[in-house]
Amino acid sequence: MSWPGVIKAYRPYLDVANVEPVTLQEGNTPLIPTPRLAHALGLPYCDLRIKYEGLNPTGSFKDRGMTAAITQALADGARSVICASTGNTAASAAAYAARAGLKCVVLIPQGKVAAGKLAGAIAYGAQVISIQGSFDDGLRLVREISMNSQIMLVNSINPYRLQGQKSAAFEICDELGNAPDWLCLPVGNAGNITAYWMGFTQYNAIGKAQNLPRLLGVQAAGAAPLVLGYPIEKPETIATAIRIGRPARGEEALIAAQDSKGRILSVTDDEILAAWKMLAEIEGIWVEPASAAGVAGLRKAATQNPHAYANKTIVCVLTGHGLKDPTTVMERAPVPLEIPAELDALQKAITG
Ligand SMILES: *Cc1c(COP(=O)(O)O)cnc(C)c1O
Repeated sequence: MSWPGVIKAYRPYLDVANVEPVTLQEGNTPLIPTPRLAHALGLPYCDLRIKYEGLNPTGSFKDRGMTAAITQALADGARSVICASTGNTAASAAAYAARAGLKCVVLIPQGKVAAGKLAGAIAYGAQVISIQGSFDDGLRLVREISMNSQIMLVNSINPYRLQGQKSAAFEICDELGNAPDWLCLPVGNAGNITAYWMGFTQYNAIGKAQNLPRLLGVQAAGAAPLVLGYPIEKPETIATAIRIGRPARGEEALIAAQDSKGRILSVTDDEILAAWKMLAEIEGIWVEPASAAGVAGLRKAATQNPHAYANKTIVCVLTGHGLKDPTTVMERAPVPLEIPAELDALQKAITG
């Protein structure tokens, strides 16, 4: 039987309308063992795995939540949906709204959205509005407009988003036979870390996972309100998906990290880019920069406190695909060497 998408796969555990789901068969993403990366991070005896969420239908984990939010919106009689987005929520909302026959409006921060994400939202037929402000300004606006009109908000303050996103925790437990010791992931608006914790605790409570993981949430240093303890007015980072200064689910994320005996830390853009390069060059997994933050955070935390990570089962969530943000590569790439179409020239050109 083919994979039916996350709602049908986990229906008894998800609080979402009991109707035919709006799905693109999202979820069921691979949990890839990465021993070479473990070695490079100085964790040779760890069972380190990558949950490769970039393989979802629109290229990020947002599809897990969007199938639930759009299914519920349709069941509740909505005609149109709206979100503010750093890009991936926009692309995902646009795709699922298209499939459901709903109008979709997305607000993006001016000039700060990666090319592949904006292209997606446009291709799926959403109305894209660029605002002269940040993601946080956009979120404030869509909250206000959805309170005073029929248009349904599908940001992760919509509880159904988290219901769908819990499914990633279930998949990890089903595959490992238990929860991992650590789960490392980037934190932006903090919906995903909140959803993972809900999923793990739910699975634990019903006896489907013996243990609970410790959560390692990772923010970019220029957008680290949960580490610093106050909102950031002008967040800045190359990891545009987590360029958020006022996380809507910030309190819940802090509680989740604390209850799990984990932590939230920050990494610099250089540390993110180093992890991003390692993933691509050592394991063949190219992600968008934000996705590498979890790995960068693991590297930093394991350097500070090796005992907590040695010999452990560790899952890093890679949240979005590299094709979302080709610019980050191309801006740093050397111009390819150009040669005459001759064997001699080719032999000379190949290095190493
Ligand atoms: C949305 C997103 C995040 C951050 O998730 P939050 O739920 O906002 O914390 C991280 N990486 C990628 C690629 C994303 O699209």
